[in-house]
Amino acid sequence: MIETAIANSNDQELAQLCALTLTELQGLMAAWMQPKFRAKQILDWCNKGILNPALMKNIPAPLQERLANSLLCEPLTLVRRECSSDGTRKYLFSLNRVRLATKMVEAVFIPEEKRGTVCISSQVGCVLDCPFCHTGTQGFEGNLTGGEIIAQILAIKADLRHDPMDNELHQEVTHIVYMGMGEPLANEKGLHSSLAILMSDDGLKLSRRRITVSTSGLTPQIERLGQLYPVNLAISLHSAINTKRDTLVPINRKHPLQELRQCLDHYPLALQRHITLEYVLLAEVNDQAEDLAALVAFINPEREWINLIQFNPYPSSPFSGTSKENMNRFSQSLISKGIRATVRRSRGDDIMAACGQLKASTEEVI
Ligand code: SAH
Ligand code: SF4
Repeated sequence: MIETAIANSNDQELAQLCALTLTELQGLMAAWMQPKFRAKQILDWCNKGILNPALMKNIPAPLQERLANSLLCEPLTLVRRECSSDGTRKYLFSLNRVRLATKMVEAVFIPEEKRGTVCISSQVGCVLDCPFCHTGTQGFEGNLTGGEIIAQILAIKADLRHDPMDNELHQEVTHIVYMGMGEPLANEKGLHSSLAILMSDDGLKLSRRRITVSTSGLTPQIERLGQLYPVNLAISLHSAINTKRDTLVPINRKHPLQELRQCLDHYPLALQRHITLEYVLLAEVNDQAEDLAALVAFINPEREWINLIQFNPYPSSPFSGTSKENMNRFSQSLISKGIRATVRRSRGDDIMAACGQLKASTEEVI
């Protein structure tokens, strides 16, 4: 019961307002002898990105105060926003939990003509250490709660409303991708709690078709995701040869390709949907003829598409990206074999907001 949890919580671990469901808020209002409708009013403010009770205009002051004193209402503080020449906005947030107070995470808003995508972080750093990934080099510093994951989206929604873009691109958040810092499936608690709120009719009301979870391939967790929240799935494949993938995506040593294959074959897909296999092309590492042949042998073209990704360099990265010509050759060869292959256009790379470039650096800010 949330009201008991709140009563027992101490300053170290306050419950987070934006992670509460309508039922939980209603329980809290009942325990506080407040009318039931207050729960919906509070939730409506949260869904608009207004998390500070003092700004919830139709909530009486004593209740505003009680909320502020009993819950962690604003789990993130916006530290910096950078805007790319292509409209992409990158946000740096600090966490407001006592134990992780100095930690930072990043989220990105990517506007296109017909959609606005928010790329969110699920962890501070990442434990998995893929050698081509900037986040991986940061090491692991902590899991985000569901509230902290949701708060990234709410903060971006509020920012877009207060400071709309002066271009023709989409201004609303229509799609969510878990492709920022961290491995979402290594933080199942935070992931599941955030998905419950994203997909709930009382929450952000996003259909499973508008949400994509990207993972390096934790197979038991993929299976559970399919059972509980069957959203779109993207797999960081990067090689279909076990010995190479062991190095590029080290979790492959625990969950090798044959296990991943079986798991993908059973993942529930929404109608006319596919699983995306992400493949970052690294010069002379995974862009050779044998790599192409292995990829063609691995993929199930009826259910899976390939998204070829340009390597995004970062300071002292040990790899270089494949040439544009080779990228085109690679994608054409796949297409000629009846495989759907797209090339991911890099967005926001002038502000280090592209995939794998996210690494919150406290030293730059303080
Ligand atoms: N941990 C999850 C999600 C975050 S990474 C995962 O690995 O899937 C999001 C995507 O960016 C992944 O496909 C990842 O492999 C890719 N990526 C990481 N570093 C990159 C880099 N330097 N250049 C291009 N893509 C990168
Ligand atoms: Fe972690 Fe994904 Fe980066 Fe690998 S690619 S280190 S799993 S964030």
